[in-house]
Formats: sequence, structure tokens, C-alpha cells
Amino acid sequence: MNKDCYIAEDLLPLYNEDLLQDETAVWLEDHLKSCKSCRDLSHLSKEPVEKGTVYSSVDHDKMFAKINLKLSVYQIIFVALSFFFAMKTSLLNESFGFILSYAVLGFATYFFYQRLMIVITIAFLPTFLWSLAQSVNESVSVSEAIWGASFLALIHLLFAIIGSLVAFLLLKFKKEGK
Ligand SMILES: [Zn+2]
Repeated sequence: MNKDCYIAEDLLPLYNEDLLQDETAVWLEDHLKSCKSCRDLSHLSKEPVEKGTVYSSVDHDKMFAKINLKLSVYQIIFVALSFFFAMKTSLLNESFGFILSYAVLGFATYFFYQRLMIVITIAFLPTFLWSLAQSVNESVSVSEAIWGASFLALIHLLFAIIGSLVAFLLLKFKKEGK
């Protein structure tokens, strides 16, 4: 299996649930046309791969569990990485390295997931929580701590979104250039 096949395998359940973006679905359909093993896999989960058909079977559940497991491994890595960024390179340490690291984090996250919600979660939450945890040590009021944490997290999110935007444009150009 090459890299495309792993991606195709990950995408199949989403495809079957009609959750892919059009361009991703087209890519997957192209891949299925040219790749027998992935085509077989898609036949395992349901008969012909057609957009918009809902199916439910034991195979589907099994495959979904497998894919969820794979995705969650990546998610754990991303979340760990984002917490690391939040603790090490955020403004909390009076370091401006976060401008670059959060742009990179946003870029990587969007590149893999193509979901802005995941970028927002990964960029916002760890900084927010870490900042909140920090302010427990300082004697500030709860509302002050929450406002402060939100503000900090938003700044970091902004750079992550800039990174995502770059990833979005890159993916767009890549597809158009095909
Ligand atoms: Zn394949």
C-alpha cells in the first residue's frame, strides 16, 4: 500500500457518509478507479461506492473503528504537540516564537484534516487551559483569569488560522494544478 492508499482508506467512511468535500471526493473516486486494493476495500464496506448512499453493516462498524483508531492516534499527536506549543512557545513565556509555531501548527492541522474546527480546537483550547492553569498560581479573580486566557488563546488562534489559510490555498492550487 502506498501513501495514497492509506489516505483513501481513511477517507472511505467519510466518503460513504457523504461527508467529504467535493474536491476530496473526486480525488478518492479517481484513486478508486486506478487502485484495485482500495476498490476491493470499498466493496467490502458496501456494494458500489456511490455518493449519498447510507449503509450500515458490521463491516462498516469495524472499518469505522479501525479508522477512528488511526485518526485518534494522529489526534493525540496533534493535541500533545499543541499543548507543547502552548506551554513552550506561547506568549505566556513572553516568547514571540508562537507566531511561527502556531502558524505551522495551523498549517499542519488544516493540511491533514481540512477542518477549521479542528484547527480552532487545537490552537485555542490548550493555550486557554494552560493560561488558566497558570493564573491559578497568580492571585487573580476567576473572571480576570478567564478573560485573560481567552484573549491569549485568541491571539494564538489568529496565527493558527493564518497558517490554515496558507494550507487551504496550497491545497487549492495543488488540486487546480492537477
Ligand atoms: Zn489504493
